[in-house]
Amino acid sequence: MKILVVEDDRSIADSLVEGLTAEGYTVEHAPTGAAALGATDYDLVLLDLGLPDMDGRDVFRELRTRGSTPIIMLTARAEEFDRVLGLELGADDYVTKPFSFRELVARVRAVSRRTHDSGSPNSNEVQTIESLVIDRRTRRVHVDDVEVALTAKEFDLLAYLALDTGAVRTRTEILENVWDAHWYGPTKTVDAHVASLRKKLGHHDWIQAVRGVGFRLELSE
Ligand code: CA
Repeated sequence: MKILVVEDDRSIADSLVEGLTAEGYTVEHAPTGAAALGATDYDLVLLDLGLPDMDGRDVFRELRTRGSTPIIMLTARAEEFDRVLGLELGADDYVTKPFSFRELVARVRAVSRRTHDSGSPNSNEVQTIESLVIDRRTRRVHVDDVEVALTAKEFDLLAYLALDTGAVRTRTEILENVWDAHWYGPTKTVDAHVASLRKKLGHHDWIQAVRGVGFRLELSE
């Protein structure tokens, strides 16, 4: 896997290139926005927003028009504004400087795993399970032809369980795949989201609890 590191700060760039290479990634460094836009054949981008030649947001927008390669933003400012803006622009994740290298690697892994999962054969197709219809591209869900409004996490949870209907997923697996790899909250969060999802779907029995293990999605008449 090749990572494009767009960062003008030499010391940050050097440590990222060195660290990510040691983790087994192939790394290309682009010190400017122009260099970033000239790069090709990478699988993930770490994008610093403060670049010398261009606004990092413009670099982001341009990269987005070229495809859905995951982009993690590196931002110097911990302001809410940047965070919201980054996610609104469609960044896959963001890291606020100063960040720990461990944290960054965890996010790179989480983003590449998520995009790998969503790159499975049926990722952009509409999945129909009995009367439940899940559209991963538009992130819309219908039950009996009626749209069900879900929160982002409820959708992610449903989509994750639907990747393998009938299979039991443990709470830990669900947390790791639906929440971020660096999320260490209580597993009760999963139960709370399952409860609200069941309520919205209107079919309590579709998501079954397997005592002491976790949950599975199974629609049986
Ligand atoms: Ca910078």
